[in-house]
Amino acid sequence: MKVSICTDMEGISGIVDRNLLTPEGVDYERGRRFMTEDINAAIRGAFNAGATEVIVSGGHGANGARNVLPEALHPEAILISGHTRKFRLQSLDSSYDAVIQIGFHARHGLQGILDHTITSRHVREIHLNGRPIGEIGLNGLVAGYHGIPMILASGDQWVAQDTREWFPWAKTVIVKYAINRYAAKCLHPKRAQRLIEAESETALRNLEKMQPLVLKKPLRATLGFRLTTHAEAAEDAAGIERIDSCTISYTTDDVLDLLRTLRMAIRLGGTAEPRITTA
Ligand SMILES: [Zn+2]
Repeated sequence: MKVSICTDMEGISGIVDRNLLTPEGVDYERGRRFMTEDINAAIRGAFNAGATEVIVSGGHGANGARNVLPEALHPEAILISGHTRKFRLQSLDSSYDAVIQIGFHARHGLQGILDHTITSRHVREIHLNGRPIGEIGLNGLVAGYHGIPMILASGDQWVAQDTREWFPWAKTVIVKYAINRYAAKCLHPKRAQRLIEAESETALRNLEKMQPLVLKKPLRATLGFRLTTHAEAAEDAAGIERIDSCTISYTTDDVLDLLRTLRMAIRLGGTAEPRITTA
């Protein structure tokens, strides 16, 4: 049984703001340790349930997606380290049996720790077939394309809600309760990691109850930028339609084409106002 663990940092135990998330932050090295320990808990759970291969996809954009500490990771896991450029889980294929998402943040607009969709720099929100979708949903959609179920996500209580909306069968682990965007009531990391280990094992033992996420075609995504100039830059890409001042849309039958095109539109949009910074 082959398990993919897709990772981010905002939803890791004990992490509430950028001091723990970027190499410039005073607590970044501690944030990396917390991240690696939450991932180790999921790896132990997967092996407890009979996994034979666990591949960790090292996420979070800061430091070129090299945030997991390789030397502190469970020695039986494989780590994909570094920025894969196109979209998360691009190296996934149908040889995997399950996807777990550790340390995620909720999509833009849910009131969790550092809520955003792909980037808060110039993107507001993405809708897919009329429903708001964030990174948890998009990653699970890639898994579904390969016939693989998304079985567990960890983060704050808004991550749990985001997950339930798209993957009602999946387990969720709440490691902290967001008070606002930069504050949370946090479980002790050891307690959070006990929960992640136990629920990862349970999720994998109940694999027959899990489903791959497959949506009705065509897939129509709309992407709302912060400024009109972002949408103006992004609409130049082939197949993209600008539907109002700040919003573009793209329609396709192919999940991977959708993910690649959204990434391209976001990159193009970002060229318009490169010096905007928001948190
Ligand atoms: Zn992140």
